[in-house]
Amino acid sequence: MFEHIQAAPADPILGLNDAYKNDTNPNKINLGVGVYKDEQGNTPILKAVKQAEERLLVKEKTKSYLSMEGAPAYRTAVQKLLFGSDHNIITKQLAQTAHTPGGTGALRVAAEFIKKHLPEATIWVSNPTWANHQSVFQSVGLEVGSYAYYDAKNKSLDFEALLASLSQIPEGDVVLFHGCCHNPTGVDPTPEQWYQLAKLCSKQGFLPLFDFAYQGFGQNLTDDAQGLRTFLEHVPEMLIASSFSKNFGLYNERVGALTIVCDTAEQAETAFTQVKRCIRTNYSNPPSHGSAIVAEILNDADLYALWESELKDMRIRIHEMRSLFVNTLRAKGVSQDFSFISQQQGMFSFSGLTPDQVAQLRKDYSIYIVGSGRISVAGLTHDNMEPLCNAIAEILK
Ligand code: PMP
Repeated sequence: MFEHIQAAPADPILGLNDAYKNDTNPNKINLGVGVYKDEQGNTPILKAVKQAEERLLVKEKTKSYLSMEGAPAYRTAVQKLLFGSDHNIITKQLAQTAHTPGGTGALRVAAEFIKKHLPEATIWVSNPTWANHQSVFQSVGLEVGSYAYYDAKNKSLDFEALLASLSQIPEGDVVLFHGCCHNPTGVDPTPEQWYQLAKLCSKQGFLPLFDFAYQGFGQNLTDDAQGLRTFLEHVPEMLIASSFSKNFGLYNERVGALTIVCDTAEQAETAFTQVKRCIRTNYSNPPSHGSAIVAEILNDADLYALWESELKDMRIRIHEMRSLFVNTLRAKGVSQDFSFISQQQGMFSFSGLTPDQVAQLRKDYSIYIVGSGRISVAGLTHDNMEPLCNAIAEILK
């Protein structure tokens, strides 16, 4: 029965990680997968997380199932983080949130929900976008289109082309936006551009789906939510896929959320019964531990403050590495201008390195970068900066 099955192509990002792990070169550098590293190259457990876990160990009374949508304390905390605690979406109960296994789980549930209830809709993603977006949506049979986003020549947002692209998208389709820290380019719209996009969305009548995987990695928790909050001033409906893998460092606990915002509380309640149905037939109910940690932190003033300061430290370290990378390349005599990297935000930047150069870095220096030239800036440290920049300077000669 299984004889005829052909091997699936390696995942472009996770496959790279496997190749890195198997590389025996002691000086290897991994700038592929989007995982935060500290100065020592480790992915630490945040102190706020450890403290929350200590409390949970004492408090936890059962391992019985959660409900399909997850724990109430988590679901309300997620909404406060998304919208701000006194937003009318919360006071009027216009949103419903389900805990999902990671941001990917949220996207997958959203995809099934869209396929079932908006069967004619095409979903539009930015060009470029996170490598898994297309696959997740295609796996439920959705049509996936792409809209213009990145100006590769100027290493910036091609806002005119973006507006022109979105103006072609008809009412009833779905458009995915990266809430902040666009993956893979690190290029986000400005507040004024978000405003224009929101107006356009309202005029065209497409449904926005915000993929929000990096809240707090750009400017801060509030400013990073500005895009989706601006949209909500102009459009009554939205889907939001949150991930807490990065901002809580809870990668392997699989903590995310799918939030549906509707015009009325009644509609939100009704639509949510269908979201829960997608969950029931998919994984039935979510795992508890990660969401209990997030809820413990978000619902406690001291833990919240500690988490926010640790998040700030991660954000600042990434910003510093961006500048150091640009300056070190310049000091090595690289004439190509990389200064755009210090203006971008989040974990990633499109370096502009070609697939051939990426392949050479891997072959000759054991430096692992995604084929598109996307660099996980969070993997840079003071220690790997010199060898990395020497290698890049060498291949750009
Ligand atoms: N969306 C984007 C844009 C991402 O970068 C990621 C993680 N790389 C996800 C979603 C998925 O997040 P998670 O690991 O929580 O499934």
